[in-house]
Amino acid sequence: MSETPYPYDAPASQALFDRASVVTPGGVNSPVRAFGAVGGTPRFMVSGRGPYLTDADGREYVDLVCSWGPMILGHAHPEVLAAVQDAVARGTSFGTPGEGEVVLAEEIVARVEPVEQVRLVSSGTEATMSAIRLARGFTGRSKVIKFAGCYHGHVDALLASAGSGVATFALPDTPGVTGAQAGDTIVLPYNDLEAVQEAFHRHPGEIACVITEASPGNMGVVPPDPGFNQGLKDACRENGALYISDEVMTGFRTSRAGWYGVDGVRPDLMTFGKVMGGGFPAAAFGGRADVMAYLAPAGPVYQAGTLSGNPVATAAGIAQLRLLDEAAYDTVNGVSAQLRSLVSEALSKEGVAHRVQNASNMFTVFFTDRQVRDYEDAKRQELFRFTAFFHSMLSAGVYLPPSAFESWFVSTAHDERALQKIADALPAAARAAAEATA
Ligand code: PLP
Repeated sequence: MSETPYPYDAPASQALFDRASVVTPGGVNSPVRAFGAVGGTPRFMVSGRGPYLTDADGREYVDLVCSWGPMILGHAHPEVLAAVQDAVARGTSFGTPGEGEVVLAEEIVARVEPVEQVRLVSSGTEATMSAIRLARGFTGRSKVIKFAGCYHGHVDALLASAGSGVATFALPDTPGVTGAQAGDTIVLPYNDLEAVQEAFHRHPGEIACVITEASPGNMGVVPPDPGFNQGLKDACRENGALYISDEVMTGFRTSRAGWYGVDGVRPDLMTFGKVMGGGFPAAAFGGRADVMAYLAPAGPVYQAGTLSGNPVATAAGIAQLRLLDEAAYDTVNGVSAQLRSLVSEALSKEGVAHRVQNASNMFTVFFTDRQVRDYEDAKRQELFRFTAFFHSMLSAGVYLPPSAFESWFVSTAHDERALQKIADALPAAARAAAEATA
């Protein structure tokens, strides 16, 4: 059994984790799931319904991770399940075009005005990787600007100073990414337009694109300063580069049209995932028709996928998006606002320095009293307080993201009962955070 300072109060999860650790590196299939940053036994979940998850020991949790964003209607939504069951009954993969792909693409194009054409893929990583390749193919240039603390999936060229798991585990660089792969990536501090101007000045005619999270959630929620995204767009236009807005996390979550629906800055290319798949592996990239025309088979830039546009995944995505009307976003935004003030009140009562930052209904509780504008600010928080807070909430049946560098996610299913369970857990968790020592 692995060493942990926390008591094993989840014997069935621990037994599964021990088995998993024999056959899977670190016992998990995505690093943040391993509880590496907070310690203790990762909970193995067996079912989800509405705002709740149930683990292998039969304990129920209010879920504030929502599968890292996708489950915006809660778990096992009956209409999404019905669409999936209907699709599965007709077969699970054809390797041919199908109507579901057309309908999902039409839904995305209808919602997000800058997207004239879209290509479906199976993960956010594939979407950003393909968008970068397309930008390079279209411009004939090789360099890419990204921002420290922004995570765009585990694309080789984009792992430098990435957020999410890379931030959680404080990995400066990832072995296996060669100098050649990383050498064309220029990493700049977030919210720093001067640094962007300077990079364009230093590399005239070399920069293919700027990729940014539309509103970052992978160093915790750090919204763009007013004018930052517009400044990126302008710098790209002036220098013949493409502006790529990564909406894998924000897309169809922060509004009907994602973060574009909030700030209205028009990207050349956009990437999507998470919510659009309804809990299945579906993602996409899209944008200007003249750029997308460079993609095979219409154009010369190759991109493909055996399971791209999978009929079950597209059925889930269509069902979920169709349920996401303005009323649904009002509900999620309301839940988020209520929860933000509950958490802040509890922490204030115990005198814990904190800042709750949000972008629409996405939010993070930073254990610092200073505004977090970039990755360096995010790293300055008192992580030991988060760890104590996290474990207290977990033992009271509230499942938070197991890292301080992540967004918390809520859904339309988070009702009064779920919020009450969180409210009941907060006083002890705030006390634990106050009493924690480094
Ligand atoms: N881009 C952003 C903004 C993300 O948040 C993520 C995943 O968290 C990705 C890309 C990668 O998506 P996936 O995990 O589906 O590969």
